[in-house]
Amino acid sequence: MECPFCGRLMQAGRIDTAKPVNIEWYPEDKESYLEKAENSITVKNTYKFERPVAYLCFHCHKLVMDVPERANFRFTQD
Ligand SMILES: [Zn+2]
Repeated sequence: MECPFCGRLMQAGRIDTAKPVNIEWYPEDKESYLEKAENSITVKNTYKFERPVAYLCFHCHKLVMDVPERANFRFTQD
């Protein structure tokens, strides 16, 4: 994959953890835990044995990955 920032070739890899934990993304603009939970994305679900693919740009220090669609996240604001 070409880096969307600099156009150079990115290195393919996987998001993984040494311990069986999920990796969550939370929006910065939500204050309460409930709001964060309602708008969070489980990027890596350990219990589904996920190791999602991500691409790293060594030049820009950027990581790019597909976001899994989850029931607890709305992809559009509409
Ligand atoms: Zn780059």
